[in-house]
Amino acid sequence: MRELQVWKFGGTSLGNGELIRNAAKLVAEALRTRDLVVVCSAMGHTTDRLMAVADAASKGDAQKAIETVRELREEHLKACREAVDDVDVRREVESFVTARTEELEKVATSASLLREVTERTRDLIASFGERLSTKIFWGALRSMGVDAVYLEGGEAGIVTDDAFGNANPLMPLTAQLLRERLGKLLSDGKVPVVTGYIAANRDGVTTTLGRGGSDYTATLIAYSLDAKEVWLWTDVDGMMSADPRVVRTAKVLRRISYEEAVEMAYFGAKGLQIRTILPAKEKGIPIRIKNTFNPGAEGTVICDSTDKEMGVTKAVLFTRNVSMLTVKGDVLKGGALSARVLAVLEQLKVVPLMISQSVSSASISVVLPRPMTDIVVRGLEREVIGELGGGELEVERDVAAIAVIGEGMKGTPGVASRVFTAVAEKGINVRMIAQGSSELNISFVVKERDADEAVRAVHEAFIG
Ligand code: ADP
Ligand code: ASP
Ligand code: MG
Repeated sequence: MRELQVWKFGGTSLGNGELIRNAAKLVAEALRTRDLVVVCSAMGHTTDRLMAVADAASKGDAQKAIETVRELREEHLKACREAVDDVDVRREVESFVTARTEELEKVATSASLLREVTERTRDLIASFGERLSTKIFWGALRSMGVDAVYLEGGEAGIVTDDAFGNANPLMPLTAQLLRERLGKLLSDGKVPVVTGYIAANRDGVTTTLGRGGSDYTATLIAYSLDAKEVWLWTDVDGMMSADPRVVRTAKVLRRISYEEAVEMAYFGAKGLQIRTILPAKEKGIPIRIKNTFNPGAEGTVICDSTDKEMGVTKAVLFTRNVSMLTVKGDVLKGGALSARVLAVLEQLKVVPLMISQSVSSASISVVLPRPMTDIVVRGLEREVIGELGGGELEVERDVAAIAVIGEGMKGTPGVASRVFTAVAEKGINVRMIAQGSSELNISFVVKERDADEAVRAVHEAFIG
């Protein structure tokens, strides 16, 4: 029996027609030795630009929305010419690109007239990126003689709830449908080529799995078909010990555990969604991160066990996209105050990245995703400050959260002191500290302007 793998190509690996052709060539060659399901992201920054189409339409700026759609049409038609050799197949892909972008123009025009883009319409607009790129990828494979079949996420079997913008797959239905539909194609000797990121609700309305969701599409498929491995093809050699754009000496991690990957995802490593890891972890399916620009490199394996040789800490990561709220209450005792604050977060379904409380001075600080700041502030003012008729709320939006991550930190004394010495030596003020209960990470908050320097100092102290 040939081994089944799921290969997902990120937008960076599909930036133009030439790159799509290269990626398709990797698939065609690999098919000699294994079965594959292919998942594609949108080309380059297409999704950002589709979001800009939605934003323009919501302001009634039809001209800008349509202009962007037409640019995208031209770029995708150019990519067709570069990636798809077979004339008949190319004609089919070109008419698909033309028809879909005309449809998108109509959606953008209607939304502009209404000056309204609901979350549902935004998902529809965003879905065009993956549809176009995946069809071109399909065409490139067909031209290479591969018996590829194009499928949109919903057609493949991914059924979600109605949480437009960040929908949740309904399991076990999704697993069952993916297994039936893709399994049938594979047993007929075909190669399914599936749009990442997009899915459909029970009524067949398009939904999306949230930004960066194509990786999740891949692990969902692997889970459902009991694939042997998932390969996420990207533009770096693997998961690295820091964001390579910030730390030039960042190193590729050869092997990390699922738990470490989850911690890293929390802090934005490789734009991974946390839930990407979960289906793979549940079935023990290794995820390999590979570089399309350097396919010979081994990449990183995310699996059950970690690489002990890497030392105590594996990575130093940070996210700017957070804010810190501190609630101080004179009246209440610390414990009751914390309970109230956490209840508000729970009610608003906001998951804090960090929590730190001081019982004696009756204060609690929480670090949250920055886009949630306003709604949480309103909630706290209403439910905590207003209700109690006292207390104080401090809001800091210009902060970044930094995490030092590694399984080796369990039971190794002195890690925290080395972290904070490295930061203090740079004269950087630490605003808050928390150690995760898993002992897989120590995290702290600094002013946003100090984040790069703090990350470099800690990386240098532990990793080099
Ligand atoms: P793709 O389009 O393949 O999904 P992403 O842009 O989502 O790729 O993620 C890859 C990028 O993530 C890399 O180009 C790199 O700059 C960035 N990145 C940030 N932190 C890390 C990290 N710790 N390890 C690897 N890449 C990282
Ligand atoms: N194209 C989508 C995004 O940019 C999904 C993905 O790339 O994973 O978020
Ligand atoms: Mg990504």
